[in-house]
Amino acid sequence: MEHVKVTDSEIAELIELETARQRDKIRLIPSENYVSSSVLEVSGSVLTNKYSEGYAKKRYYEGQQYIDQIEQLAIQRAKSLFGAEAANVQPYSGSPANLAVYFAFAQPGDPIMGLALDHGGHLTHGWGVSITGAYYTPIRYELNPDTHLIDYDMVRDLAKKHRPKIIMAGATAYPRIIDFNIFAEVAREVDALLCVDMAHIAGLVAGGAHPSPVPLADVVTTTTHKSLRGPRGGMILMKKKHRKAINKAVFPGLQGGPHNHTTAGIAVALKEAATEEFKTYAHNIVANAKHLAEKLNEKGFKLVSGGTDNHLVLIDVSPRNVTGKVYAKALDTAGIVCNYNTVPFDPRPPFDPSGIRIGTPSMTSRGMGKPEMEKLADWMDQVANNVENESELTRIAGEVKELCKNFPAPGIPA
Ligand SMILES: *Cc1c(COP(=O)(O)O)cnc(C)c1O
Repeated sequence: MEHVKVTDSEIAELIELETARQRDKIRLIPSENYVSSSVLEVSGSVLTNKYSEGYAKKRYYEGQQYIDQIEQLAIQRAKSLFGAEAANVQPYSGSPANLAVYFAFAQPGDPIMGLALDHGGHLTHGWGVSITGAYYTPIRYELNPDTHLIDYDMVRDLAKKHRPKIIMAGATAYPRIIDFNIFAEVAREVDALLCVDMAHIAGLVAGGAHPSPVPLADVVTTTTHKSLRGPRGGMILMKKKHRKAINKAVFPGLQGGPHNHTTAGIAVALKEAATEEFKTYAHNIVANAKHLAEKLNEKGFKLVSGGTDNHLVLIDVSPRNVTGKVYAKALDTAGIVCNYNTVPFDPRPPFDPSGIRIGTPSMTSRGMGKPEMEKLADWMDQVANNVENESELTRIAGEVKELCKNFPAPGIPA
C-alpha cells in the first residue's frame, strides 16, 4: 500500500482496516476464502492494463504476445485439473458464466430448471428477481421436506412435464453431496442440456473431496474465488462439442475484454490446486465441517439434513430461541463472521430467517483443525446464550483474535 497511502489515504486506510478484520476474525462465510500471496500479486499486476477481446490467436487488438500465453496456460491447467475436454476462463464471475450458458442454449421464454433459492439454489438458477427468472421460464425443484435432500423424484417429474432446455444442478446453501448421476440420467431422458454449477464446491472437486460433475455434465460453470481459492472470477468447463457455442456466448455474446489480471490469477490458483497440499486442504475442509457440525449438534443446534458432506453447515437456530439475523449479528460482534440464511420450509421471512450458513474453507486455509472447531463450537454456544450481552460478546472477540494470531492467514502479514 506504499503508493496509495500517499495518493489516497482514505482508501488505503479502509483496505488496512479490512485486512485487520480478515486477520483477526474467524470467517465462516462458506463462499469466501484467503487467496495466496501469489494470487494477490498477479491480481494487482499490469495485466489490468491490457485489452484482449477475442480468444488466443483470434484477438481484435495487437500486442497479445504474452496475454495469449497466459490465457492458454489457464485453459490447459483448468482442463488438466478437472479432466475437462475444453474450458473458457473469461467469465467475469459466476453469474455471467451461468448467463453465458443460458444465452448459448436457450431462447428467451424457454423453460430452464433449477433448485429454488429458498431451498439452497442460486439467484441465477431462475429466481424471479434475477434476469434468469425474468427472461426464461423457471421450473423450480425443491428439497424433500423430511430428509432435506434434493427431491430427485421431483426433478424427474418436473423435467418430464416441462421438458426444460437446460437443467441446472448445483447450490449455494446445500450441505450434502449432489448426485450428478441422477441429474445426467434425467437430462438424457428429456433431452435437456445438463449444466452443473459447482461454484461452492470447485475446490472440493479439484481436491477429490466431492465427486466430480465434469464427466457427467455437458457444461460445468464455477466461480474461481470460493473453495477453489483463486481470484474473483468465473470459468466454464465443457465437452468439446459445446466449446464453440459457449465461447461465442461469452464473447461477443455477453462480455467485452477479458480481465487478464484475473485470468493470470486463475492460472496461478489452478497450479496451486493441482498440488498434493491442496488435496489435503480439500479433505481437511470437509473433516472440519463435519467435526464442527457434530459439536454444534451436541450443543442443541439443529442442522439442516442432520449434518454435512461438504464444506458447509446450514443451522436452524430456532431451538436456541434466537433468530438467524440476531444471532449472525451477535456472532459478528464476537469476531465470528457468517451470514443469516433461510432454512428449507422456513416459517420466518427471508430478511430475518431461522438459520445461519457457515463453512470451513477460510479457517482451513489458516491451518485450523479439530481443536479449533471445538473452541469455535463453544464460542458459538456462548454467543447464542448472550446475544444481547455486549461485554460477553466483546470478551469472546478478544479470545477469537488471540486464536487467530496462531494461524496466520495466507496473503496477510501476521
Ligand atoms: C456464488 C455462486 C454463483 C455466483 O457467483 P458470483 O461470482 O457471485 O456472480 C453462482 N452459482 C452458485 C451456485 C454460487 O454459489
